[in-house]
Amino acid sequence: MKYSQVAAALCLFATSMAQPWHSMVAYPDLSTFFGQRIWDSSVWTPNTVTQWPAGTLPASCASQMQARGCSASHVQVYNVTYSDCARPWVFCRCDYAPVSIGRTADIFGRMPVHMRSMVRHPMIVPNPDGQCCCAAPDDGDLMVAGDCPIETFAHEVSHLIDNRGDVFGEDFSSKSTFVNALAADTCSISNYGNTNGRHEEFAEMGVVALYNVNTNLLPAVDSSATTGCFSNQLSAIKTKFGSQFYAYGGTCVNRQPDSLTQPATKRVRVKRENLVGRAGWCRYKQD
Ligand SMILES: [Zn+2]
Repeated sequence: MKYSQVAAALCLFATSMAQPWHSMVAYPDLSTFFGQRIWDSSVWTPNTVTQWPAGTLPASCASQMQARGCSASHVQVYNVTYSDCARPWVFCRCDYAPVSIGRTADIFGRMPVHMRSMVRHPMIVPNPDGQCCCAAPDDGDLMVAGDCPIETFAHEVSHLIDNRGDVFGEDFSSKSTFVNALAADTCSISNYGNTNGRHEEFAEMGVVALYNVNTNLLPAVDSSATTGCFSNQLSAIKTKFGSQFYAYGGTCVNRQPDSLTQPATKRVRVKRENLVGRAGWCRYKQD
């Protein structure tokens, strides 16, 4: 895999292997077990897409895109208005990113509106290897590279829920409720969650919660794992966030204000906080 220098730094930060939580893993790769199921059980929300005239863009788009080598003059800006929320989401797309605004808006719109409400600006960023999808918990920006599936979006939004869904800036995954649940369980949810820290275990559990909250189903676990081995974690996340974020229905609530609009000609300075979010950046395998 080839990364740009910047991307390599981000991804290394995120993929430093931590001690595994458990020797048993329920679903080694979540996409294999959940990808099609989540897609099939998701609810598509109609949307309309309107492109901004060239010349201005949200400040955070300018910074995040510039950090990935996409200058402001290459950033397309769109209002995407979903039928369940009067206020549009302002998407940004690098004009040479490998996925369209329409497809990304459709997949984003397959998440419950309360998950979408945690996101400030969805951004379709360039990334040659197409695998570095990230969330910035401090401000709610969501960066997707390549043609990311719905479970990747759900994983990234779950980082935002972890960081801001309980008390702003206090990761729920670091609190005793989740720490104790993970310790009481006999498995981790996935290989990625097992070896990349509690916030990744939580984000992977968020994908499972999205599916289970809305279907009351779970796929059979891997043959090396025991049914129900992650039940304490699932119960904890459903009790705390299930109806508040992971269930379909309702309308947008508690959305953050958009990042300030600035001219595309304004010089962009990439700050450290544009590169490393408080809960860390993550790399999520799409396949
Ligand atoms: Zn992650």
